Amino acid sequence: MICLEAGKLGGTAWRHLLNLEYGCRRRLYYELAGEKANFTEPHKSIFDRGWYLEPAIARLYCESTGARLRGPENTVLPRDAWLPDWWRGHPDRIIVSHPRAHGTGILECKTAGTWPYRKMESDGLPLPYVYQLQHYLALTGCAWGAFAVLEVDDRLDDYWTDMRKAGVPRKCVAAWAVECVHSGRWKFEAFAVHRDRDRIRYLLGEGRRFMGLKEPPDKIPDVNGAAPKTCRECPYRRTCRGIGEAVEAPAYDEEVQHAPAELDGLFERAYELHEIKREAEAAYGAARAELEGALHAAALGPGIIAGPETVPALAWTKQRRRTFNSAQFRQENADLYADYVVENISDNLKWGGGKS
Ligand code: SF4
Repeated sequence: MICLEAGKLGGTAWRHLLNLEYGCRRRLYYELAGEKANFTEPHKSIFDRGWYLEPAIARLYCESTGARLRGPENTVLPRDAWLPDWWRGHPDRIIVSHPRAHGTGILECKTAGTWPYRKMESDGLPLPYVYQLQHYLALTGCAWGAFAVLEVDDRLDDYWTDMRKAGVPRKCVAAWAVECVHSGRWKFEAFAVHRDRDRIRYLLGEGRRFMGLKEPPDKIPDVNGAAPKTCRECPYRRTCRGIGEAVEAPAYDEEVQHAPAELDGLFERAYELHEIKREAEAAYGAARAELEGALHAAALGPGIIAGPETVPALAWTKQRRRTFNSAQFRQENADLYADYVVENISDNLKWGGGKS
């Protein structure tokens, strides 16, 4: 969900404006232009996760640094006068004092699943976060800030919304999350960020160009990269991609149907294996990245790499990827495209659907 005041850009808009990760510049255009959405965007439990854990992250930041904070209310500082009027938003917290920094700073609080967290530990902050913080530094005139990130167990992803619906108090969850970090179950890290004039100038230029657009931008995210996932749930997919590519799934019945008791064993077995797979995938991703780093460090290169006898040899290849721009092909060869499009609908089972 892009949260925008009409005609204004907040810190999270840069992900979209610059087509970074799962952001989409075109979608941002539709929102700013007040285009009516074609679909209602599904609610994501991850938003509730952020809401629940923000106080815990702020507390952990104070504990680990000795800083004092202000907020979440009253985090708007006077705007720098040179900024255009569309440059808006307010940070999560104001850092009123910090034992090792001068002046006021700003704090953004984020949660991350295990894999994105590990990636941040090894590669640093992803670009959308870097730009988000620069946005607030420009807005407030502060010279420094921090991005505090809490690693959260992915297996809880299905439950945050349920907890919110059930009215579980935020302060109880925050206290429990802090305890998870103290006991070593979850990790916490704060990345310091300093004002970067070149980056702010770059954002200013890109923002001005974007705000001057009279038509939706042509450039859309890589159709064979992030876009299918981005587009699948995009509320503007019909407007943007046309009817043919916006296959609407049959109506989803919110009413709970109860399965016969003789299926209990099948349910339990499938769910148990699903959990094992999810944990194994996360662990494998991390182990693979570590191995890859170690192979580079050992100055090895593509080819067959033999490890211990207990495991098969590793084939290390460089892959070339070719992508097919179906959206452009369709635009330029509409008839031919229609002849070759095959639409089908299949069943999809996902744990955690519906209400219990
Ligand atoms: S359908 Fe895809 S490309 Fe179009 S606006 Fe939505 S996310 Fe962007």
